[in-house]
Amino acid sequence: MIKLKNNFLNKLTENFRDCYGMDRLSKYAFLTGAVLTATYYLSPLGIALMGYSTWRSFSKNKYKRYRELEALNRVLFSLKESVNNKRLALGGGSQYKIFKCPNCSQKLRVPRRHGRIVITCKKCGTEFKGKS
Ligand SMILES: [Zn+2]
Repeated sequence: MIKLKNNFLNKLTENFRDCYGMDRLSKYAFLTGAVLTATYYLSPLGIALMGYSTWRSFSKNKYKRYRELEALNRVLFSLKESVNNKRLALGGGSQYKIFKCPNCSQKLRVPRRHGRIVITCKKCGTEFKGKS
């Protein structure tokens, strides 16, 4: 009986060694799943997510799992980027407006709320009208 148990444990640890293990994606999926399970309407989705997370952790196709993690990282990165860009646009939008010189395409930052103004390109000296 004990020997059988040891065999079983050995097999189990061997199995674990081949497994992909828990990465960020699995962790996120599991946590999201746990939260969703606590809600009434989304609990099936939560269970599915937790199941997916567990399945990922025990999966032996490490390459594929790694690609999934990379995909998640890419999505998170582009989300972060777009949030940053929006923040930049909003922050810049409150005080400054960016104009592009029609002659040399130089970007020019002009304070907002000055109505119609003549902008002089600091690079090539071209004057053009704009509304700030
Ligand atoms: Zn210019």
